[in-house]
Amino acid sequence: MSKTVKTTTKAREKADIIIVNAEELITLAGGGEKPRVGKQMLELGIIRNGGLAVKDGRIVAIGKTSEVTKVFKAETMISASGKIVLPGFVDPHTHLVFAGSRENEFQMRVEGASYMEILNAGGGILKTVRETRKASIEKLVEFCLKTLDVMLEHGTTTVEAKSGYGLTTKDELKILDVIKRLNQLHCVDVIPTFLGAHAIPPEYKGNPQGYVNLIVEEMITKVVDRRLAEFCDVFCEKGVFSLEQSRHILITGKKYGLKAKLHADEMGMLGGAELAAEIGVTSADHLLFSSDAGIKAMADKGVVAVLLPAAAFSLMMGRYADARKMIEFGVPIALGTDFNPSCWVENQQLVIAFACHSMKLTPAEAITATTLNAAYAIGRAHEVGSLEIGKKADIIILDVPNHKFLGYRFGVNLVDKVIKNGRLVVDKEASGTEAANFVSKEL
Ligand code: FE
Repeated sequence: MSKTVKTTTKAREKADIIIVNAEELITLAGGGEKPRVGKQMLELGIIRNGGLAVKDGRIVAIGKTSEVTKVFKAETMISASGKIVLPGFVDPHTHLVFAGSRENEFQMRVEGASYMEILNAGGGILKTVRETRKASIEKLVEFCLKTLDVMLEHGTTTVEAKSGYGLTTKDELKILDVIKRLNQLHCVDVIPTFLGAHAIPPEYKGNPQGYVNLIVEEMITKVVDRRLAEFCDVFCEKGVFSLEQSRHILITGKKYGLKAKLHADEMGMLGGAELAAEIGVTSADHLLFSSDAGIKAMADKGVVAVLLPAAAFSLMMGRYADARKMIEFGVPIALGTDFNPSCWVENQQLVIAFACHSMKLTPAEAITATTLNAAYAIGRAHEVGSLEIGKKADIIILDVPNHKFLGYRFGVNLVDKVIKNGRLVVDKEASGTEAANFVSKEL
């Protein structure tokens, strides 16, 4: 096991990278085995004048700079003087893989059309489905690599990605294959979620149950046989998948070993939060219209609420999830981008700004929600989400003097450096872009 900073050795051990003199080293350490709730979301575990050492892709020491440098030496020493150091952002909700774009629909929304009106007119998800079905794996991979580059430049080092723009067995498998390829080609870790139940495809218009049958009788087994997904998700909403259909799909997924997630109560109060608690999903996402009883049930079951304020912003709903009530009720909150063609945002820093301004999260709560709690929302808290000895060296340095600048200073990229798997992959101080560094875990 790794050395702790308390170890006393005469000759200093060699590390790959040492970060020194961080104004604030935000560790989020020492929280136990559960996502943070209530006041715990304020506890960032800040070490002033902090330092940490990285070796073989892992964190091997963390503490005051003097404590770390007493035990370790390295050729690559990074000064974080005047800056903050924190775990790489985890984005627990994205629809990463799609073809085309929907800027025309954006204009319709600006002019007053609702999401459901656009969907019923054959736009929205269904337009993207048509284009994604036509796209080759290579083309989709190429597009997603660029997106992952942008996410990484903005400090995101782990991303959840859903299928859901195929809606046939063949095309859903194609999208999940793309995600598998991304994991081989890009250093950002991509956690795959099967979301065949994203919309009713045109072939099943008027026969939603027929499509549900296809999902439970064919798609799930093929996805599991090929080990292409870890989670199963459903868009549970009036006019899309009912509570009963959502339950059927998620329980079938669980039977085959897929953990559950749920798009719940985004457009109306349907009882999605209650269903999420009943099934014991890992996370329930959106939750703009959830009932008090549903939120309490989620708290009792420890279901993580993944809130997506950028989606509410881009849909111009004039309403956000009631994050303060959820925190008061003891629900662990995480934040994600909901990156998709109607909410085209790769940047968790901007999501933090939305969360602070529109849902009244404090910067500290929003940091917890984009790191440790987001890692819990995708079952990765044992690996990422906090800076602790033995965890992955996924670390970001932001060019601000303290954490309260997150959300406060917004609209620019605050990232100074990103270390992913123990390698410096983004360095603003180095001349030019470092794009070549992002690609391939193998290179
Ligand atoms: Fe979504």
